[in-house]
Amino acid sequence: MKYAVIKDAILPRLGMGVAGVPKDEFGHADVPAATAVLDECMKHGINYFDVGYNYLNGTCEDFFREAIVKRYPRESFYLADKMPIWDATTYSRVSEIYEEEKRRCGVDYFDFYYIQQIEEKNYHLAENSRAFDFMLKKKKEGEIKSAGASFHCGPELFTKVLDLYGDQLDFVQIQLNFMDWYGKEIKELYEIAQGRKLPIMVMSPLRGGFLTRTYSQKARELLTEAGKENGRSFTDLAFGFVSSFDNVAIILSGMESPQEVRENVEFFEGEPLNEKELTSMHEIGKQMLKETFINCSFCNYCSYCPSRIKIPKVIDLHNKHVISAKNTVFEIYPMIAEQGLIPMPCMHCGLCEKLCPQGLPVMSIIGKCSTGVHGI
Ligand code: SF4
Ligand code: SF4
Repeated sequence: MKYAVIKDAILPRLGMGVAGVPKDEFGHADVPAATAVLDECMKHGINYFDVGYNYLNGTCEDFFREAIVKRYPRESFYLADKMPIWDATTYSRVSEIYEEEKRRCGVDYFDFYYIQQIEEKNYHLAENSRAFDFMLKKKKEGEIKSAGASFHCGPELFTKVLDLYGDQLDFVQIQLNFMDWYGKEIKELYEIAQGRKLPIMVMSPLRGGFLTRTYSQKARELLTEAGKENGRSFTDLAFGFVSSFDNVAIILSGMESPQEVRENVEFFEGEPLNEKELTSMHEIGKQMLKETFINCSFCNYCSYCPSRIKIPKVIDLHNKHVISAKNTVFEIYPMIAEQGLIPMPCMHCGLCEKLCPQGLPVMSIIGKCSTGVHGI
């Protein structure tokens, strides 16, 4: 395993996104299977765990307490938690959520803590509720060892936030992968963070698996060609691209099985990509961008849909059948019905769009399919 250093913490470069564990039909952790994944992480020295207040339908922190906090010494793992800023509109609500997070996790300090999902709207909410001030106060008091923020915005807002708080932050978290490097101004964000010597935590290195299961025939051919010389899989290439950046500290992966943990550990112990492979990955990223996919990162934040609609799966069907195969949308309605992806009609509550870090028009995509399946 390769390591990164942030302050006095020596961290594995591969971190576990706990939201990725196997789930039951309610979106909660499938406890035996999910615990086995976390145990496998600990066995291989992957002891950085990223949890969230809303993850696993609000049960992520409780699950983590039972699976890790109660079963391993506190100093044997690093815990990263975050403030869901869209739910924390006042200073007292920020404090309430933070205390609840500590209680749920069963800890009296967080190794890493960050303000979640900064984009225009959330930034204003964070300023109104003084969430940064709260987090930095807790850092001063020693309850938070390292403080940061995760970003889904462009360079302008990124710079503004770092001008205001950057000298008190220890890290930033951004979505970095071989496709977004060009498409979402990530290159600029990376360079700004690097210039300020702020280590980067990476989310969505594989875009929820989308990059390695791409439906683009052309991209598949290019990836196969790029991996041929050294027998690299698509996943190996995608991780290799992200880990080639010096200023990237931790790469988060939501691993779903003990086998996936072992495979990912192997990638992180293997040889880095050579110049030729890296050049190919840049070209493939540009190629994939050219193809018009619905820009979903398959983060599953929208899994709290009250109609229990499997939103990312419906979007995946769009990508596979509507866009890449140039079919029309009604052709996927029978597949949606057969797979039970829209069990109840969409009630247009707007929750999915509120939570979507990519700012996708989820209601219009899903609403149309919901009407197609249920007739209402
Ligand atoms: S708007 Fe529809 S799809 Fe979105 S969360 Fe509400 S019910 Fe689910
Ligand atoms: S629609 Fe948005 S919230 Fe849902 S999985 Fe895709 S990117 Fe995430």
